[in-house]
Amino acid sequence: MNTVIIGAGYAGLTAALELRRLLPKSETVTVVSASEDFIFLPSLIWIAQGERDPADIAFPIRPVLEEAGIEFICAHLETINPPKKSISLSKGQSMNYDKLLIATGGEWNWDALPGLGPEPIGHTVSILSARDALNVRAQWQALLVDPGPIVIGVTLNTGLYGAAYEFALNLDVALHKAGVRDRASITFITPEPYLGHFGHDGLGDSRHIIEEAFSHRKIMSVTEAQIDHIEAGAVVLATMQRLISKFTMIVPPYRGIKAIRDVPDLADEEGRIPVDEFYRSPAYLDIFSAGIAMQVKPPVLTTLPCGVLIPGTVSAQMGRSAAANIAADFGHGELVARSADSLKSFYVLDFGSQGLFMSLGSKSWLNVQLNIPGPWSHWAKVAAERYQMWQLQSGRY
Ligand SMILES: Cc1cc2nc3c(=O)[nH]c(=O)nc-3n(C[C@H](O)[C@H](O)[C@H](O)COP(=O)(O)OP(=O)(O)OC[C@H]3O[C@@H](n4cnc5c(N)ncnc54)[C@H](O)[C@@H]3O)c2cc1C
Repeated sequence: MNTVIIGAGYAGLTAALELRRLLPKSETVTVVSASEDFIFLPSLIWIAQGERDPADIAFPIRPVLEEAGIEFICAHLETINPPKKSISLSKGQSMNYDKLLIATGGEWNWDALPGLGPEPIGHTVSILSARDALNVRAQWQALLVDPGPIVIGVTLNTGLYGAAYEFALNLDVALHKAGVRDRASITFITPEPYLGHFGHDGLGDSRHIIEEAFSHRKIMSVTEAQIDHIEAGAVVLATMQRLISKFTMIVPPYRGIKAIRDVPDLADEEGRIPVDEFYRSPAYLDIFSAGIAMQVKPPVLTTLPCGVLIPGTVSAQMGRSAAANIAADFGHGELVARSADSLKSFYVLDFGSQGLFMSLGSKSWLNVQLNIPGPWSHWAKVAAERYQMWQLQSGRY
């Protein structure tokens, strides 16, 4: 029996190592991923700020997997043929699978709005890949020397609120340190009904903590905001309100990769894979999905479509659950029903000079949210980075 896992982020890497632990050696586990490295995405904002280099937040996946007895192929998934249970890869290779786990995360949809995306396609900066974040460094430094109006925000249908909030708050601190905050306005725009909603109707007291932080730091905000388009020097909302901006960072919506969108009935209109409580596709029973590649429906309705925050730790737990169910299908262990909204996790928001620790788990809120004072928030996040990277790299995640 052969299980193929596509993607080696939080979900794919955790699932592969878990599956290897659960299955006898006679069953093969193969990971296909587009990158040789695991990148710790929560630290990308620090690359833009010049506090981290890409090598600091990455480790090679191949030795981790090979040491565990998992074959690793670095290639792009091109097509999936569910009736034949086969996939094709960018290197012209094709493979058969008995079980397929799709953990490819999302693809940023820069086409969602005119003017969205880094030059030359648009007028915004991006911190969503190590290369993009490196490219932002020079602009960040230039802004600290010659500041102006700043617009930070998220589009409809994206769940990546944390990075946008952190970016705005860290920028505020950097502008203060440079002694130029009075020459730069910061405006945050979001489709959320209120700040700190996160697509979850808030996480504990996140609303008040973020609203207070924004008010204290004079960061303006427009909630229930829909962007119409972005120009060089301005963000134009659907209301035709025009926000002048010298430096614009907008998180786009994400969608499933093309190889997934191309398979009939596998994914929704955004290319996200619906799964049951066992992380199995109802359309193709040998295909599983975990992490942000899968569809997570918002737990609450909002006026504008808001994505749902899915932390890395939740993606990893989804991967582990999917692995347990694949093993159970092969007769090793019991099926585990553990839907995404029953998973518990935490999220640390680094405000630059303060922070917020939030616990997640929409079925039974732990309601723990700590307003972390001073530099502790930064060190809490650094500790989380070091600890999580060690766990992932040593197969203990
Ligand atoms: C800037 C940023 C900041 C964030 N901050 C935080 C934070 O502070 N805390 C937190 O908990 N979470 C944070 N997140 C969210 C967290 O990173 C995600 O929840 C997590 O990465 C999702 O894991 P995943 O495994 O589903 O997808 P990913 O981590 O995106 O992994 C996808 C994998 O699939 C591979 N892949 C993609 N396409 C293909 C293809 N065609 N063929 C083969 N392989 C492919 C990729 O190479 C990668 O290995 C942040 C994310 C970003 C981008």
